[in-house]
Amino acid sequence: MIIILNRDVTDTQIDEVRAFLEARGLGIHLSRGVETTILGAIGALDDQKAELEGQLAALTYVDRVVPISKPYKVVARQFRPQGTTIRVRDVEIGGSRICVMAGPCTIESEEMMIATATHVREAGAHILRGGAFKPSTSPYSFHGMGEDGLKLLAAARDATGMPIITEVMDPRDVELVCGYADILQVGTRNMTNFTLLREIGAARTPVMLKRGWASTIEEWLQAAEYIASRGNYDIILCERGIRTFETYTRNTFDINAIPALKSLSHLPIIADPAHGTGRWDLVTPVACGAVAAGADGVMVEVHPTPALALKDGAQSLTFANFTALMERLRAIVHAVGRDC
Ligand code: PEP
Ligand code: MN
Repeated sequence: MIIILNRDVTDTQIDEVRAFLEARGLGIHLSRGVETTILGAIGALDDQKAELEGQLAALTYVDRVVPISKPYKVVARQFRPQGTTIRVRDVEIGGSRICVMAGPCTIESEEMMIATATHVREAGAHILRGGAFKPSTSPYSFHGMGEDGLKLLAAARDATGMPIITEVMDPRDVELVCGYADILQVGTRNMTNFTLLREIGAARTPVMLKRGWASTIEEWLQAAEYIASRGNYDIILCERGIRTFETYTRNTFDINAIPALKSLSHLPIIADPAHGTGRWDLVTPVACGAVAAGADGVMVEVHPTPALALKDGAQSLTFANFTALMERLRAIVHAVGRDC
């Protein structure tokens, strides 16, 4: 249940209600906004709920108690009606500015990393991406440079000042990747890796959770809840396309998910039209559509020579195409009353 406290609630009163709930075995999540303070109380048994709701509603500093019947609670919109803004160094995700994440699918060398980072930054990107631990459907594909790749990504951050995002696949690597990354990425293949989600939940590094390619919106939000329930609330959702009967595109980018998530959850949402389409020529129009539909940003893949990319060359933008994307995107960003 969600307990909405009066505007003038004191810290002592918050501690009092927290102690009351903890004594009854409930897990507590606190969200303090400028306008409202909300406590999420998780784990009440069905036959405990009515009595608890009555007791809480009787407290003078409780405004109201809202039961949440959905299987996700802390990531539900009711928990933070104003929406979540995540700050990563000097970049905000989920605020009024649209956030552009760009970089190669896979870190391949120092030269390509620095060249790509320098170009995307000049063209207006905010966050640099690059995979060092690469998931792959085939065991024979390239699986990334590992920690050596993380070092190159960190060097590109130092050279450009851009925060970096990179994937972590194994719960045993979370600490290592947190030592380099500003944002962790959970890929589509790991959305339901609950051991990994729990480990990331215990970390304090922001995380971008991609949608499983065969997962419903509700399953995706429950995966996010795994992370939030361990105390890491800095979660960004990323729609990256789902599998349908269509084979012309690599996946089907689910634009419905964007406004749906905006009403169901307070978490920021990023669109990934690269994996969502698998075709570089569709990346820009789908990126524009996603921002028009309410996405808080986009993630795209950029490579100095896509034809030679070790991974995902077909959906990677050249430097010139990335510059063109930024120009078209800015027009949409302004049309929806946001900034970039
Ligand atoms: C990626 O971002 O390069 C990636 C592997 O994405 P996904 O998990 O969406 O396939
Ligand atoms: Mn990729």
